[in-house]
Amino acid sequence: MTSTTTTPRSATGSVALHGVTKVYGQGEHAVLALDGVSLDVAPGEFVCLVGASGCGKSTLLNLVAGLDKVSGGRIELGDGVNPGLMFQESALFPWLTVEGNVDVPLKLRRLPRAQRRERVAELLRTVHLAEFGRKRPHQLSGGMRQRVALARTLALDTPVLLMDEPFGALDAMTRDILHDELERIWAERKLTVLFVTHNVREAARLADRIILLSSRPGRIIYSTRVDVPRPRRIDSPEIASIAADVTDRLRTEVGRHGQ
Ligand code: ADP
Ligand code: MG
Repeated sequence: MTSTTTTPRSATGSVALHGVTKVYGQGEHAVLALDGVSLDVAPGEFVCLVGASGCGKSTLLNLVAGLDKVSGGRIELGDGVNPGLMFQESALFPWLTVEGNVDVPLKLRRLPRAQRRERVAELLRTVHLAEFGRKRPHQLSGGMRQRVALARTLALDTPVLLMDEPFGALDAMTRDILHDELERIWAERKLTVLFVTHNVREAARLADRIILLSSRPGRIIYSTRVDVPRPRRIDSPEIASIAADVTDRLRTEVGRHGQ
């Protein structure tokens, strides 16, 4: 046997942060947004990140998405994995139809036209918008637009989904329905999801694990598994009790900053 060491490759769909630090700006204007954040997300795991506004949640997702560079530490993704990112605003192209929007990543991937057409139809069925392919974004409700955004992200065929308060602007009923949909799609496709929200109940409803971030600098201060069987209901007593526990900790943290 030779003594060559092989670096263990990260499994497809895994996300690992090792002592990640992010500083914005320089000198006296520098803001330490994240300070030594380490986190291992297993393939197929659904992790919710919660924390007060400004604690670095979006920063963390943007770093994992590769939109910005870490100031220290490192982030490991599976080989060749480019995560999909979804925001509170659907960021659809207003001049394209629903089909056209979902087709964008497929075109970028240079899939042949016939295959693209099939994929678009399949993705629209997945998010229950099969009848709306010819509509334009402004003709849809907020919830429908987020479904299109989800279909477009799924068109990337990536195992890792990063979601930054994707349902934050929706009414409670629409949000409930989208929770069910997202949970179904996550389970069917065995996706890894890193989901940011400041809504603790939403986190308890969706997550395998909830991670709580402190503010300035953003550090992981608490982590808990949600062992409630699925499908879940956001208004169930088990979810409410987990949410109450996390809310207490969040309140203590926010109070510490005198906000
Ligand atoms: P969250 O998403 O939890 O509300 P952010 O990640 O957006 O928090 O921001 C974390 C901290 O970093 C905040 O103090 C914010 O003002 C600061 N910040 C975020 N983006 C930038 C930037 N591009 N330049 C300077 N400061 C930033
Ligand atoms: Mg944010």
